[in-house]
Amino acid sequence: MRLTVKEKAYTNCFFHVNRYFLLQAGATGVLFYNNPTRKALLYGRIRITAWAEGDPLISVPVLSITNSFGSTLLQNQATVRLTLKTVNRMTVESTINVLCTTKGGDAKDTIVLGAHLDSVPEGPGMVDNGSGATSLLEIALVMAKANYELKNKIVFGWWGAEEIGLLGSRHYVRELVKDAKSKKLIAMNMNFDMLASPNYVPYVRSIPWGVFLGVLRIIGEQSPLTRSHIFRHIGP
Ligand SMILES: [Zn+2]
Repeated sequence: MRLTVKEKAYTNCFFHVNRYFLLQAGATGVLFYNNPTRKALLYGRIRITAWAEGDPLISVPVLSITNSFGSTLLQNQATVRLTLKTVNRMTVESTINVLCTTKGGDAKDTIVLGAHLDSVPEGPGMVDNGSGATSLLEIALVMAKANYELKNKIVFGWWGAEEIGLLGSRHYVRELVKDAKSKKLIAMNMNFDMLASPNYVPYVRSIPWGVFLGVLRIIGEQSPLTRSHIFRHIGP
């Protein structure tokens, strides 16, 4: 394999391989390396962020290498020839969204409350997102019991396959977009992700890249008054 190092192109990719980048670069493989201060190899979900049903899947090997190896390749890119051998398994699985809509409330001013139901294979999923999914279930049960007279119609959504690219919630939004009228009926979306976060502030996560996770968070724990509301599951 001929090696072309495009350092800049990698800079903002993080866990995502942009399909545009892959096509433009004509890549036959992708290597990630971490910054020098972090010894661990980068690993994570590699996905095409705007993936829609029917879109091509990533068909090139994507590997993680150490920073020193990456730097060496970068310095010697004119002369290095690299052979990549990978063993992959690709499967097609089914996933589901669970949706529950209140009978009452103004449908023209619908509020969507959502939480993803899946978790990553690396963890038991108690926080991400057992805490969000069960909090949302509890809210639904309490509301049903109290039998409130609702101003807004509420859709409770438990999304499938979030961790591999927001597939469930994307599907929901895409179905809405097909009917432009129904999209306009949604006034607000709230995302319940990892509510059992470690910094004691409801809806807030402390890690800097929490913004990508789409949780309601405070930008930096030093500035607790600056809040950024990220509504992940209602897309463009
Ligand atoms: Zn999550």
